[in-house]
Amino acid sequence: MGSVQIVTTILAAAITAVAVWLAVRAVLKMVAVIRLGQPAPERFTDKGTRTKTMLVETAGHTRMLKWGVVGAAHWFVMVGFIVLSLLVLEAYFEVVSPTGGLPLIGGLAVYGLVTEVIAVLGTVGILVLITIRVRHRPTRPGGRSRFTGSTMWQGYFVEAVVLAVLVMGFVIRGFKVATDHFEYPVWATPVSHAVGALLPDWEAGVSIAAAIKIAISMTWLIVIALNVTMGVAWHRFLAFFNIFFKREPARPAGSGLGPLRPMTSQGKPLDFEEADPEKDQFGVAQVEQFTWKGLLDFSTCTECGRCQSQCPAWNTGKPLSPKLLVLSLRDHAYAKAPYLLAGGGKDLTGEEKATQAQLAHLDVLTLAEADKPLIGTAEEGGVIDPDVLWSCTTCGACVEQCPVDIEHVDHIVDMRRYQVLIESSFPSEAGVMLRNLENKGNPWGAPQNTREDWTKGLSFEVPRVGEVDDFEYLFWVGCAGAFEDRAKKTTRAVATLLHEAGVKFAILGEGETCSGDPARRIGNEFVFQMLAQQNVETLNEAFEGRDKPSRKIVATCPHCFNTLGNEYGQLGGEFEVVHHTQLLAHLVSTGRLTPVQPVDGGVTYHDPCYLGRHNRVFAAPREVLGSAIGAGGDGLIEMPRNSERSFCCGAGGARMWMEEKIGKRINVDRVEEAMSTGARTVAVGCPFCSTMLNDGVNGKDAGEQVEVVDVASVLLRSVRPDAAPGARETAPAAG
Ligand code: SF4
Ligand code: SF4
Repeated sequence: MGSVQIVTTILAAAITAVAVWLAVRAVLKMVAVIRLGQPAPERFTDKGTRTKTMLVETAGHTRMLKWGVVGAAHWFVMVGFIVLSLLVLEAYFEVVSPTGGLPLIGGLAVYGLVTEVIAVLGTVGILVLITIRVRHRPTRPGGRSRFTGSTMWQGYFVEAVVLAVLVMGFVIRGFKVATDHFEYPVWATPVSHAVGALLPDWEAGVSIAAAIKIAISMTWLIVIALNVTMGVAWHRFLAFFNIFFKREPARPAGSGLGPLRPMTSQGKPLDFEEADPEKDQFGVAQVEQFTWKGLLDFSTCTECGRCQSQCPAWNTGKPLSPKLLVLSLRDHAYAKAPYLLAGGGKDLTGEEKATQAQLAHLDVLTLAEADKPLIGTAEEGGVIDPDVLWSCTTCGACVEQCPVDIEHVDHIVDMRRYQVLIESSFPSEAGVMLRNLENKGNPWGAPQNTREDWTKGLSFEVPRVGEVDDFEYLFWVGCAGAFEDRAKKTTRAVATLLHEAGVKFAILGEGETCSGDPARRIGNEFVFQMLAQQNVETLNEAFEGRDKPSRKIVATCPHCFNTLGNEYGQLGGEFEVVHHTQLLAHLVSTGRLTPVQPVDGGVTYHDPCYLGRHNRVFAAPREVLGSAIGAGGDGLIEMPRNSERSFCCGAGGARMWMEEKIGKRINVDRVEEAMSTGARTVAVGCPFCSTMLNDGVNGKDAGEQVEVVDVASVLLRSVRPDAAPGARETAPAAG
């Protein structure tokens, strides 16, 4: 070993020892913080599916590849990071000897080829990512950036390190070529040979370049070890676990969508008949009351801002960004952790658990952080502003886009649950809706005996459950479908089409109450459970003696569709629920409904969040519309944001019942997008979308240019033009 190699070896060993020691300390700290969360035993089920999903999502980059070039670039960088770790290992042999290399595989042409190809593609990939980050930097003139609020130096630092490590790999190989110590043929390693042609015949260069490469890699490790909240780096290790432990590993996409998690205390679902707010946790009031998976979510965020770029609240000037919400919770959790790890924390009656002696060693900043209310205004020192919490429509765009499967909606609703159930703190205008739900069983407060008024004037009898028992489908009308004028037209259209197709169906009539969706999404789990239990009982009675496949329900409201199909199972109600567009698509495809009159003037379709993103029903409504438009039409004109990336109407998450006081109205934004297609008909599949978009059209005084109408009404006009409501008929705004 020459004198250069002695120096490079000592330097490499020293910096590696420091980096590894700091990294181990950081990992232990991170594990300790994540373990502060509440139990989540359901995350350990079905390990086989979890492993498969984790491998498929990671290796296939299933989310990221939807982002085209950036997804592909990230894939090469990820593969480069894994494979080229071998080259960092190899550098430890090269600091000792300029002829050093990996034992066993070092010297194999295939190893030389694979690492060369990945290094080249990784270099291209990281240059693409750096260019994208620079071009989308928050400080660029004009436009909003998905990186707004991200810690930019961390992103630049990580990317610069990756680039430097890749470049140093070529420099090391180049010196080996120049000194004739390189074992790989030109065909396998052409770039290394090209670099070698530019470098001098200098043996010490190999060891010095290897030492620099190790120094850069270890500096990276030291920096991230000293910054445990540096998700842009740590996600490389944490993302595997976060994906493995996601809520529903069997769902191909949107694992944190569809049903909400039940309210739990100590990892067990809360039973409201026995629950006691002094003993049981009601929602989340302190950051440590999230489950450990919640804390893992916050730690894993890469700050990429894909969620933010899709969020309807953020895009219309509201203070909510799902990314910033996650980052605030992460930073708070880690800043509060020393207090919690010292034994601190409030019990459920608000009493401090730790003794003064336990907390004596903590600094004033940690104690101040521990004192912050989780929900509170800036003046109150809150971690999350109430306007942030209540701006969410639970549309799920953030969950859909997040490449590391963070479950934003569950966290937001958990915080709402505490605010509503314990603090009674929520936008006051929603109080009327909750009172109506409790007292009248519907959000409008309409008399229950008017639930069947929509049947009046139909040319056929609508049978009720109990009057007939050979029905195939129970038609769940929903509160909007029963009480809201515009939605009643959809209800009548669906009933007419089912009758026309000879489908045997029956309604519950006055036996139906609200599904409970608005109560659950605003956070009032108590009212949800009350309504849901009543409905489950009624439905179980209606389907008595039938097995699950024949307990069929058709619903026109995606919120009811989601709640009945995905959430009533949590309360013992197992049903086969379809959305009316799915049933209508089936009836058309099997020839039981035949569109005869093409719908002209151009049609576009707005995907309801709870039908599309939350339940993956994208094709059926398009098939129905395609059949109604007919071969002679222009086909469906898609809006720029459609299907998985559809933009919310603004009504979900009980936002329908709250005033939209901040920023641009979400429904206006969506209507402008719909109108930009030039289509005369905007088809919807949800009564709330219908109300919101109609309000948007009316607000723009564009009622003459464009009509918002349900898919069922579009089909009815084509199948039975005589029975369909007038094309330009309008109804008063609801809500
Ligand atoms: S659910 Fe929708 S509104 Fe709520 S944070 Fe996510 S993207 Fe924004
Ligand atoms: S929550 Fe997910 S999508 Fe949003 S910034 Fe973090 S990693 Fe990206």
